[in-house]
Amino acid sequence: MTSALSHRYAGVVLDIDGVCVTGKTAIPGAAEAVTRLRDAGTALLFATNNSTRTPEQVAAMLTEAGISAQAPEVLTSSEAAAELLAPGTRCYVVGMDGLREPLAARGCVLTTDPFAAEACVVGMDTSLVFSVLADAALAIGAGARFIGTNPDTSFPTERGPVPGNGALLAALRTTTGVEPEVAGKPHAALFDAAAARLPDGPRLMVGDRLDTDVAGAAAQGWDTALVLSGVSSAADAEASPVTPTYLAADLAALVDG
Ligand SMILES: [Mg+2]
Repeated sequence: MTSALSHRYAGVVLDIDGVCVTGKTAIPGAAEAVTRLRDAGTALLFATNNSTRTPEQVAAMLTEAGISAQAPEVLTSSEAAAELLAPGTRCYVVGMDGLREPLAARGCVLTTDPFAAEACVVGMDTSLVFSVLADAALAIGAGARFIGTNPDTSFPTERGPVPGNGALLAALRTTTGVEPEVAGKPHAALFDAAAARLPDGPRLMVGDRLDTDVAGAAAQGWDTALVLSGVSSAADAEASPVTPTYLAADLAALVDG
């Protein structure tokens, strides 16, 4: 499908985990498929809801796995969250460098004073301490705009699922009664940020999850491809209210098919 894809789409957005890699290991054929798309002149973007890593760290991880990538080709939910804010916004941040760096690059001012914050931006922090969660609740309670990087309820580890950023957002929502604005898939902000980085014209989202990658992109009017190398199965696709434009075993089959 290489020539068909590259003729049909001005840009292709690839979800990372479950499409390009599993953990830090490339999915068989993914590196070659990315190369074939690039050789055909397709504009590519690697998009992830993971808010913990900077684009540089994500590009390095992909390259280490054998899928060459540059930081400007990576879009994280943290970057999409930053783009919801005007430069100069004073932000209280729950999160790691993967969130702090994009906010600083956006021109936001990071503050540790919850009562000085105009926005409270919440991403995953694997070293989270209670006082930070407490100050985030105080910031939101005092009127700061409540923004979440991504809604993922759990985070996969070798030992099993642990709380994801959606669980942190739920804790803050429970405390404050305020609903967060969320940037990551399936929400529009990440797709808006992706569209702004791609050439004008039709876009294709390639993902492994019906509820985030496929549903979110379809809601923006994009074509979608579900690959079966990650979370969602063919049976899930048959039962789903949203039908992907393409269904393939994996990225290699999509590109070669
Ligand atoms: Mg995925």
